[in-house]
Amino acid sequence: MALTMGRMIGYTVGHMTIDAIVAGAGIWGCTVARRLADAGRRVLVLERRAAVGGNVRCEVDAETGIEVHLYGSHIFHTHVPEVWSFVNRFVQFNGYQHKVLASYRGRMYFLPFGLALINKFFGVELRPDEVAGFLADETRSKAVFDAFFRGYTSKQWGLQPEDVDESVIRRVPVRSSYDVNYYNDYNQGIPLTGYNSLFERLLDSPDISVLCNAAVRLEGGAFKVGGDVLPNVPVYYSGPLDELFGFKFGALPWRTLRFESERLGVRDFQGTAVVNYTEAEVPFTRIHEFKHYHPENAEVMSRPKTIVMREYPSAWKQGDEPYYPVDCAASRELFARYRGEAEAVPNLVVGGRLGGYRYLDMDKSVEAALKLELLP
Ligand SMILES: Cc1cc2nc3c(=O)[nH]c(=O)nc-3n(C[C@H](O)[C@H](O)[C@H](O)COP(=O)(O)OP(=O)(O)OC[C@H]3O[C@@H](n4cnc5c(N)ncnc54)[C@H](O)[C@@H]3O)c2cc1C
Repeated sequence: MALTMGRMIGYTVGHMTIDAIVAGAGIWGCTVARRLADAGRRVLVLERRAAVGGNVRCEVDAETGIEVHLYGSHIFHTHVPEVWSFVNRFVQFNGYQHKVLASYRGRMYFLPFGLALINKFFGVELRPDEVAGFLADETRSKAVFDAFFRGYTSKQWGLQPEDVDESVIRRVPVRSSYDVNYYNDYNQGIPLTGYNSLFERLLDSPDISVLCNAAVRLEGGAFKVGGDVLPNVPVYYSGPLDELFGFKFGALPWRTLRFESERLGVRDFQGTAVVNYTEAEVPFTRIHEFKHYHPENAEVMSRPKTIVMREYPSAWKQGDEPYYPVDCAASRELFARYRGEAEAVPNLVVGGRLGGYRYLDMDKSVEAALKLELLP
């Protein structure tokens, strides 16, 4: 299957007549495309970037053989059986279970907030039934909050550390066990053949054509790509809504991320995939070390090189990659206005993290796409 194609000719691609258009080839759009093809529809997938996969896109580094997650670490996890069986139709997962460590004042702690962290931080040996009583003392819960949440949250959202609301700590789930699995979901992993293979197989159908470097826009009531007007068929769009409507009410606020990657001449830099740096003074939030996502690949694991990537959050401006929606009353109201505009466009279905202006894990994107009512 070709993932990029030549120019479209009129309302057909090659000799194929189109029944539906999917604009945006992230995990939401590719799941929708596959559902449409499974239902016998002929689908044209249009993707603005040079390749499919959205923010889950990876690249294998030729020198080290390491699969680099181009837009930050992505671990597939779900407790929804329909989602798990759907993705397993296309790829097998390696069973990787995600653990996250926190670096604070030069010491390493296991997240989430559980017995391993509490006992090391306070130098105690609590048993499970002693955790709640121990943390009832507010000076202790505040000390944990200041060390692990205040600085990290201030960097993530661009706030002063003293402005991070302490009520957050009351909502952080506490585990009274040594379970250091970051997610509660039983099903977890990374595709054995890499994330890109998931997208290639989702789109691998004679009824799906894919055109990359093709940004869809709405102009005078018609969907267009370059100089071509698209056929009047259902459009499943997972790009940003403010952009689709020319930012007519203003731009929706986002946080963006800058990633700095480095190839290092050591076999193993940090001994795990992700370390959070929780102090406000450290300018990045996390270091990702991608080779740890494929422990089954002994050959790559043993090579004397590794790749690390530092993650720096910052304010978003037009033209930057949008990563995290900024949830506040004003952004919710702005988004509602754009959603109202979208509802008035015939044949338009909006979804995904950009279209829905909300943070969605991959499984939630797949679940939403599986539940979507397809247009006739
Ligand atoms: C830093 C970070 C880490 C994450 N880690 C995890 C994780 O570990 N596990 C997990 O489950 N989830 C994770 N996620 C969430 C995951 O990235 C999303 O669930 C997923 O990307 C959502 O897929 P999507 O298809 O909605 O959006 P996207 O992946 O953003 O795909 C949308 C696609 O639409 C294209 N597009 C936009 N506008 C247009 C247009 N006008 N025309 C054509 N194409 C267009 C874009 O180029 C893009 O390819 C993480 C997110 C972030 C920000």
